[in-house]
Amino acid sequence: MTPPLSPDPEQPPFTGAPRASASEKARRPVAPERDVEDLRLERTLRPHAISEFTGQTRVVEQLLLAIEAARRRGEALDHVLLYGPPGLGKTTLAHIIAHEMDVKIHITAGPVLEKKGDLAGMLTNLDRGDVLFIDEIHRMSRVVEESLYPAMEDFLIDIVVDQGPHGRSIRIPLQPFTLVGATTRTGMLTSPLRDRFPITHRLQFYEPREIMQILVRSAEVLQVELEEGGAWEIAQRSRRTPRVGNRLLARARDYAQVRAGGVITLEVARAAMELLQVDELGLDEMDRHLLAKLIDNFDGGPVGLKSLAVAINEDPETVEEVFEPFLIQIGFLNRTPQGRVASRRAWERLGRTFPGPRGGDPDLFS
Ligand code: ADP
Repeated sequence: MTPPLSPDPEQPPFTGAPRASASEKARRPVAPERDVEDLRLERTLRPHAISEFTGQTRVVEQLLLAIEAARRRGEALDHVLLYGPPGLGKTTLAHIIAHEMDVKIHITAGPVLEKKGDLAGMLTNLDRGDVLFIDEIHRMSRVVEESLYPAMEDFLIDIVVDQGPHGRSIRIPLQPFTLVGATTRTGMLTSPLRDRFPITHRLQFYEPREIMQILVRSAEVLQVELEEGGAWEIAQRSRRTPRVGNRLLARARDYAQVRAGGVITLEVARAAMELLQVDELGLDEMDRHLLAKLIDNFDGGPVGLKSLAVAINEDPETVEEVFEPFLIQIGFLNRTPQGRVASRRAWERLGRTFPGPRGGDPDLFS
């Protein structure tokens, strides 16, 4: 059984479905979102210093420059918006920003901030220069979002002092702070909020060799011996996502310790991945199920997002945010104005004969 969760100041509040009560599909070994069981692993493995953070070089370089400039001026760093698919290091970078600025980090998440008072409570607790990290910032309520504007712009917040017909609010000053917002969906941010972030960075999927470096460091922290072949094998299947890599590494460690001699060799990694049904491209049963439905039920598309989601018994948001980014990334799926289309590679991967290109097919022009 999963133990009850106590709030962890190192982690954004957990706003997903708890694994114990979640259906089989939530237990995907390659799911990019944070799972309850990832919390402890992530606390152990999360880098705090920039030197331990691998990849995203352009983003890191620009952030370091802004941090250095803010430090020299003795000011809080400008607000930072980080966006990109789950598991690529947004929370980690927020920690690193706080570490490099030598300030405290306060962590919350959009869905948790229900009332203006929730946000005011957090803001008034900040010391000069502190980082306030809001994960899933696109899921903040409208009233909370609006009360954030004067805080971001002028370090002021309105606090209601009297309720009822004579209700009034007073404006109180805050310490200068840095808001670090994270989102998987910039499209869902209102433009007034987006415009209030002077620094905005999109995180990219990692190269397999970068994932390999992350795995080597993680194995050291976890005190498990990881051979180069084993690291490469896991890296290849990690969907270019550090969270997935670390999770697969933890499973391979279990396998190595229980069924092999404790060392993650190439063979051990391969056997562990086979047990998890994660193939050489990082696809699992659910991905194959989605592609099979797209090809067999809809003739490879184009098909609308909703119909595809119904066919695999998922909600459209999950299909769009969780399944598709990686399938698009590896060229198996394309989003077109007419709907979703499976590529030639997807047909062939599933052992089907490709009937030829159709409208919006990613192979059409390649
Ligand atoms: P996000 O907030 O984007 O969902 P996280 O920052 O929580 O992702 O990253 C997930 C896990 O992956 C972290 O615990 C961290 O250990 C690891 N990780 C992410 N990015 C990196 C990186 N660039 N270098 C090393 N580890 C990383």
